[in-house]
Amino acid sequence: MIIDLRSDTVTIPTSEMKNAMFNAPVGDDVFGDDPTVNKLESLGAGMFGKEAGLFCPSGVMTNQIAIKINTNAPGELICDELSHVYNYEGGGIGFNAGLATKLIKGNTGQITAEEIEAAINPDDIHFPETQFVSLENTCNKGGGTIYPLSELKKIKALCNEKNLTLHLDGARVFNALVEADYTAKELGDQFDTISVCLSKGLGAPVGSLLLGTKKDIKKARRIRKILGGGMRQAGYLAAAGIYGLENNVNRLKEDHARAKKLGTELSQLSYVAKVLPVFTNIIIFEVIESIDFTTIINKLAAKDIKGVAFGPQKIRLVTHLNFTDEMLTKAIKILKSLN
Ligand SMILES: *Cc1c(COP(=O)(O)O)cnc(C)c1O
Repeated sequence: MIIDLRSDTVTIPTSEMKNAMFNAPVGDDVFGDDPTVNKLESLGAGMFGKEAGLFCPSGVMTNQIAIKINTNAPGELICDELSHVYNYEGGGIGFNAGLATKLIKGNTGQITAEEIEAAINPDDIHFPETQFVSLENTCNKGGGTIYPLSELKKIKALCNEKNLTLHLDGARVFNALVEADYTAKELGDQFDTISVCLSKGLGAPVGSLLLGTKKDIKKARRIRKILGGGMRQAGYLAAAGIYGLENNVNRLKEDHARAKKLGTELSQLSYVAKVLPVFTNIIIFEVIESIDFTTIINKLAAKDIKGVAFGPQKIRLVTHLNFTDEMLTKAIKILKSLN
């Protein structure tokens, strides 16, 4: 039994999801003819109170399209220094949208309205024009942290006042929503555009949704085509996304409970210096200085537990749909055996 905790992207579709995929009515989505893609796009948009949605191959693509459609180079994007859009999208902010990036050193991946206001450039020809703000909820590199609605409202008000587009990288937005005291609609109201991954906690094999106004999504469809993301009978994939949205949201709480348990157990081990607080399904821990952390990763891998290096001395484990209670018990036993 291999226990793969490298990411929540490693899930394999269940037979119920595969049945939904095989039985999906499909058509050519580039012509707008795929009923299952259309259903997924309106289902996602409806959940967050947005007018329209666009099904894309990946979350990188939905984020990059969102940045491109609401900015005009030269200009600048503001985000936290831990953001996926900055760290893990290959420099796409510069490559695709031609923007500079201003990084804020926030708190566990979260930035405040006050910090954003201080990062907005003055109206002076020396500076790139600030145009766009991107937030991440939950924040991956911050340890799966959840934004409070009160701060998001302040940020939205600031962005409205300063004429900045506010985007949510909601790759794991449902992990936030099942724990937070706000609804998808209340969250949706705070953002111009939202990117949602179907291929993470929701268990679909492929795909992300970009949500926004009809006007945004019309532009987004053009950019998706340019990037080579226009897919034909994509309904087979969209069906998996619909299945995930309809069946796999509430169960994310189970992933969170297992992650918390792993975090508690790890914090008691002698080779662990520190475990970051566990908010959702992401566990980040630091190995003590006297041990090279890669030896821990390798020893775990030799015992069939997979994690990833996550910065100096840091290891990340992510719980997901295919990580069972039986695996949890086994994983704890193995983690303890390295003590
Ligand atoms: C996974 C992820 C994405 C998108 O990744 P894809 O692999 O392209 O779907 C975007 N943002 C965050 C925070 C992520 O974790």
